Amino acid sequence: MKINIASVINSDGAKLSIEKEFQVGTFEFAGNEYTFEKPVQITGEIKNIGSALKIALELRGEYTSYCDRCGCDIAETVFGEAEENITGENVEVDSEMFTLNGHVLDISGAVESLVYSSLPMRNLCSDDCKGLCSKCGTDLNKSECNCDTTRYDPRFAIFRKLAGNGEV
Ligand SMILES: [Zn+2]
Ligand SMILES: [Zn+2]
Repeated sequence: MKINIASVINSDGAKLSIEKEFQVGTFEFAGNEYTFEKPVQITGEIKNIGSALKIALELRGEYTSYCDRCGCDIAETVFGEAEENITGENVEVDSEMFTLNGHVLDISGAVESLVYSSLPMRNLCSDDCKGLCSKCGTDLNKSECNCDTTRYDPRFAIFRKLAGNGEV
């Protein structure tokens, strides 16, 4: 994703607004699959602050994925921000985030990393999703099954014993 920054590169205080769309598509990340049907929106600003060019980016996108517990479809919105100063004079920036080549700034790396970094650690259809039965696969949000999946914590065995003895 390339931006011509000729209008800001040599004049102090000059600003340039960024408004772009980035097609992300479908990808796998951290064990889940994400689909961005619509392109993500990239907005931001490049400002010449004398000693450097200050780049501020904001990303907003909508994706569908799967609940980590029950596997149902979920739809979420992501939001991310990035800010970086790149030096204006000695313009030999070639980081993974931004590449400046003459008057052409490539922000593809920054946008891609923003997509990943703005994804949540977990995708759940709801915080109290019950997930699937580990034995029969029943969706426990929708129905119950008769499997015995109770796993007792041995540390509590004594309490069960006490409770049992208490029964008259
Ligand atoms: Zn779920
Ligand atoms: Zn079951």
